[in-house]
Amino acid sequence: MSLKDKQVTFLKNFALLIIWANENGYEVTAGELFRTDEQHAINIKKGLTKAVRSKHQDRLAGDLNLFIKGVYQTSREPYKPLAVKWKSLHPDNVAGYDWGWDANHFEMK
Ligand SMILES: [Zn+2]
Repeated sequence: MSLKDKQVTFLKNFALLIIWANENGYEVTAGELFRTDEQHAINIKKGLTKAVRSKHQDRLAGDLNLFIKGVYQTSREPYKPLAVKWKSLHPDNVAGYDWGWDANHFEMK
């Protein structure tokens, strides 16, 4: 699969996740989607990431801000249903929830 084809599949599934969330009583707002190489270099310099390269730089990752009953969720556990749904959409989908520290992150490997 070409990078472009993966990007198309990722974005379609990201849209399906957002629609699923809305249909199941969650509210989500957009977090980071595409990250430039320049921004990633700044993030490394500031110690915000240790990843040499992020899937955000390849347009294969997106972050969502989750709200339940209007309250922004800052802990990991509320994101679990979204992680489960995300992984059901494609065998290459990876949920940051499973890493234990990046629950609002959804990517395709
Ligand atoms: Zn992310």
